[in-house]
Amino acid sequence: MKNNLLRKIPKMDNLLNDLPDHYKVRFDNIHVKKTIKKILNQFRIQIQSGQIETFENSDIMNQIVIELDKMIEFTFKRVINGTGIVLHTNLGRAVISDAIIEEVSPLMTHYNTLEYDVETGRRGIRYQHIEEKICAITGAEAALIVNNNAAAVMLVLNTLAQNKEVIVSRGELVEIGGSFRVPDVMKASNSKLVEVGTTNKTHLKDYASSIHEDTGLLMKVHTSNYKILGFTSSVDASELVELANHNKIPLYEDLGSGLIVDLSPYGFTDEPLVQDSIAKGIDILSFSGDKLFGGAQAGFIIGKKIYIDQIKKNQLLRAFRIDKFSLAVIDRTLNHYFSPSYAMQHIPTLKMLVISQQEIKDKVSEFIKTFENRLSHSNIIITGIETIAEVGGGALPLERLTSYGISIVHEKSLNTIQNNLRKFKVPIVSVIINDQLVLDFRTISEDEFDDLVSGLEYAVAGGHHA
Ligand SMILES: *Cc1c(COP(=O)(O)O)cnc(C)c1O
Repeated sequence: MKNNLLRKIPKMDNLLNDLPDHYKVRFDNIHVKKTIKKILNQFRIQIQSGQIETFENSDIMNQIVIELDKMIEFTFKRVINGTGIVLHTNLGRAVISDAIIEEVSPLMTHYNTLEYDVETGRRGIRYQHIEEKICAITGAEAALIVNNNAAAVMLVLNTLAQNKEVIVSRGELVEIGGSFRVPDVMKASNSKLVEVGTTNKTHLKDYASSIHEDTGLLMKVHTSNYKILGFTSSVDASELVELANHNKIPLYEDLGSGLIVDLSPYGFTDEPLVQDSIAKGIDILSFSGDKLFGGAQAGFIIGKKIYIDQIKKNQLLRAFRIDKFSLAVIDRTLNHYFSPSYAMQHIPTLKMLVISQQEIKDKVSEFIKTFENRLSHSNIIITGIETIAEVGGGALPLERLTSYGISIVHEKSLNTIQNNLRKFKVPIVSVIINDQLVLDFRTISEDEFDDLVSGLEYAVAGGHHA
């Protein structure tokens, strides 16, 4: 019986022949043969162990095709973010607008002026596309852009403080996302960290008494992802400016987020504005391109020309250079900032931060009204619910945004639904709060509604596509 079944297993050549044509186009024989061998082996083992008592040739072909499909599946794909965390580092940080992607697309599918000067017909400089604009917007004298803010920090330290001491307050030795720690970056850039003050209090005299001939830089780090509360004091940048100028030592601040639009009317008051920091007289600033700035992964370095010019000559710059896609997105995003209100209306990150709870509530009502019938067919009950959203991305850690979303109730357990939502073809990331399965609509847009409903139906059907 088993031997009969084993003899029934088709030959490699026959399977190769019978494979649907589009797989023959898509996969080289090497991959197809390897896959067929693997599936045939599995069948042999299952026949011998009695797990398979009968089969058709088509069963084998189906397995082969499933295996091939899996090989070219993407794990890097879009998701629906129901967490309400606007800058979600695991979910790609800043969202880029359709308009910007459309504008950038022809530059990517064609040749472009990345390093070409059309005036002279000679080699151009990639950093120049953005330098004048960021200077006009922030008041800086000069600017440079690199791969990310971590690279910007490395480059500034390595250029201005290699084999020299950098004075930093103990209250500002931040770690961001587990892999970026100020003391470690300092080591990697060959500069020597000099910690001053204590965790909760640092005074101007702490900086002053640590300055001597080996001091290369005074550094401030914006404590983006935490805040020390209670009995605290830190030295404001403007006081440090005087100290730095007096001692002829450059002052550098790692701002982290790069906020350019004043969001204090919306209740965000803890994040320094880039242009204010320049106006205070800080010599060099760096910040991310894909946090509150709302662009692509990048790191801006802006400030006084004498220092930026030195940084531009550092050999490491080549290793940290920004690629054309990110640069194009940053450039197009930057253009929005010539009008703060325009930026707030068109940059998705800012839009999601300033949207009112009422507007989110209206979005939820629209969703419920449109899909109530369909959802009740699947015995899903959804209700509007007040939520608390977050800025994320290590920015404004204490800011709690009153928001709105839906709570999902069904006979299946919340955990099961949550897991199934994640397995939908457009994975849906939800949160469980107070025994409720919640999707926050601050981070969900109307063009995701259809997928959201299909995902909910899929999740309660046990993770199977209808
Ligand atoms: C986020 C952050 C960084 C790292 O920036 P990336 O763009 O993620 O490399 C560095 N410093 C501070 C203060 C930050 O908040």
